[in-house]
Amino acid sequence: MLMDNFARRINYLRVSVTDRCNLRCRYCMPEEGIPLTSHEEVLRYEEILRVIRLFGQLGINKIRLTGGEPLARKEVLDLIHGISQIQEIRDLSVTTNGVLLGEFAADLARVGIKRINISLDTLNREKFAYITRRDRFPEVQTGIEKAIEVGLSPVKLNVVAIKGFNDDEILQFTRLTMEKPLTVRFIEFMPTAGVDFWNRDHVLTVDRIKEKIGKMGTLIPVNGDERDGPAERFRLQGAVGELGFISPISSYFCKNCNRLRLTPDGKLRACLFSDNEIDLRSHLRNRCSDKKLRDLLTTALHNKPQRHRMDTSQFRKCQRNMAAIGG
Ligand code: SAM
Ligand code: SF4
Repeated sequence: MLMDNFARRINYLRVSVTDRCNLRCRYCMPEEGIPLTSHEEVLRYEEILRVIRLFGQLGINKIRLTGGEPLARKEVLDLIHGISQIQEIRDLSVTTNGVLLGEFAADLARVGIKRINISLDTLNREKFAYITRRDRFPEVQTGIEKAIEVGLSPVKLNVVAIKGFNDDEILQFTRLTMEKPLTVRFIEFMPTAGVDFWNRDHVLTVDRIKEKIGKMGTLIPVNGDERDGPAERFRLQGAVGELGFISPISSYFCKNCNRLRLTPDGKLRACLFSDNEIDLRSHLRNRCSDKKLRDLLTTALHNKPQRHRMDTSQFRKCQRNMAAIGG
């Protein structure tokens, strides 16, 4: 079992497989995109698999592929298939913007994906085109339907809640959980590197979102309020699906953090908000021993901060863009 210095059990690795993306969400990327990691610098699939195999033996049993847009990386199904063959990995999933999901859903299910997270901040095509700077809402809709159709479960929709943008859609998103087997998760809007879109006044807190949803019915905790990593889970009476709330801004969610992150260029990051990174790639390319990789993992665990400092004057946006960390 892997533990950090604050007695948190770490069993989850998020792997950002690319920093390239087919959308340009205003809260994540500048219009012109971000400076991209060159192909030589990006971890190769065999390197990612080596890391996951070893970390799996040490206590990581949950992997999520993210990006950039993970489905935009060439032959990503081969990587997924490779991970699905690693016995220790009991939970393998993908976070996607959904644009390519219609095309990929059946193959994802075939190569070992059981569940999927789709990021979608609005149900309105014009607003989608505004927030992502791309008119691709119909493809995302098709992707969601296809994911349900091929039996991926749960299908989770991640909604970044932004005051003045989608606060008028909270109930519409909630209503989806009454009708469809979807988990809708509201995530507080966070400040991220490389974009100036964030503003504290645009943060819609989880308490405020719950208050709005309270008008539709009582929020019933799922699993006795058991937390799924940083998410709190609920259900409305009679609903087919679930609701989730992730509150990086208004409440101290770090105490439930169970994760590490691997960036496209092979840096191991212990915290989304800390630029303290450990370079695995140079060691992998120098044919390092498994012991060396284990030692690097131990260092990362020791470096994992107790919490982010977003609510204090010490907070500084991190240097690395969200799309190059993976969210
Ligand atoms: N492209 C994929 C997607 O959008 O699902 C995966 C990568 S994306 C960086 C991962 C997650 O980070 C998405 O759910 C996205 O909404 C979230 N994210 C990005 N910037 C954010 C911000 N400023 N505040 C909150 N969530 C953010
Ligand atoms: Fe791309 Fe995801 Fe960032 Fe949007 S949030 S720009 S889809 S990486």
